[in-house]
Amino acid sequence: MRLALDEAELAVRGGDVPVGAVVLSPDGTTVLGAGHNEREATGDPTAHAEVLAIRRAAARLGEWRLTGCTLVVTLEPCTMCAGALVQSRVDRVVYGARDDKAGAAGSLWDVVRDRRLNHRPEVIEGVLAEDCARMLTEFFRGR
Ligand SMILES: [Zn+2]
Repeated sequence: MRLALDEAELAVRGGDVPVGAVVLSPDGTTVLGAGHNEREATGDPTAHAEVLAIRRAAARLGEWRLTGCTLVVTLEPCTMCAGALVQSRVDRVVYGARDDKAGAAGSLWDVVRDRRLNHRPEVIEGVLAEDCARMLTEFFRGR
């Protein structure tokens, strides 16, 4: 999560909301992909931290299945990212702050653990939640 927080800091430079994500290898020792929000920086509405980290990890592995991997993100994934996580077949999703307005991993929806889907990653929430939330609060306060 510390790595994801470092990644989140990078988003602010491009004027983006500070959210960062990393994809860890199945043994947990290697960062296969990292990403931060780049929506403002790139003008791409899908450039969320999780999507970018997933894409980079898949490119590095040379395959779309991220079986065994863990995605760590500072903010609860939205519906798009929750869908991407299911599609990527990650085994585990770890997130920091909850997103009561748009979260799709337990708050507003629970897309990743929907029993109607055939792949449901494990979800661990609240890791360094205060640090993750503080970064967002400070960003919005500065606006
Ligand atoms: Zn998202």
